[in-house]
Amino acid sequence: MPSKQRKIAVMGYRSVGKSSLSIQFVEGQFVDSYDPTIENTFVKTTRLNSQDYELKLVDTAGQDEYSIFPSEYSIDVHGYVLVYSITSAKSFDVVKLIYEKLLDITGKGHVPVVLVGNKTDLHMERMIPAEEGKKLAENWKAVFLETSAKENASVSEIFHILLTEIERADGNMNEK
Ligand code: GDP
Ligand code: MG
Repeated sequence: MPSKQRKIAVMGYRSVGKSSLSIQFVEGQFVDSYDPTIENTFVKTTRLNSQDYELKLVDTAGQDEYSIFPSEYSIDVHGYVLVYSITSAKSFDVVKLIYEKLLDITGKGHVPVVLVGNKTDLHMERMIPAEEGKKLAENWKAVFLETSAKENASVSEIFHILLTEIERADGNMNEK
């Protein structure tokens, strides 16, 4: 089977670990000081259920409560990773706003989304209980995961689960 091309946008407030998660997944390393203002697109091939995928990961520069949802993230994007940090209540609020704008701009009732609470290694600094993330994701009918980019905990799961969700939304159409 030819490989399928899928585009994924990683969004969330600044400093939640969007770049760290992307780099951990694509390069298998934790980079401690990555330029926070950079937007980058990574390409990675991955295999899931004997299907090859060419993933384009758009690691966005980050959004806040004032951001207008950039239209380039609504076109051609198959699924979204919405990231907050479990150490930041603000980042949890911002991820809710991003989701609302996402639904508005795509005009769809359902978009493949994985909600990610990152930085689980910082348990002493936790502000958002796992239960809250789980509830929010249930509201969205999205999948919820807690991760640590630093410890490489559940990072590849984000992308594999999102691909599965994208396939489901596709209704298994055999498009390229
Ligand atoms: P971005 O602005 O969302 O792209 O966030 P970055 O990936 O640049 O990360 C912001 C800061 O948080 C950096 O200092 C990272 O090293 C740190 N960071 C990212 N992920 C984790 C994590 O899982 N655990 C810890 N302890 N620090 C993290
Ligand atoms: Mg970044």
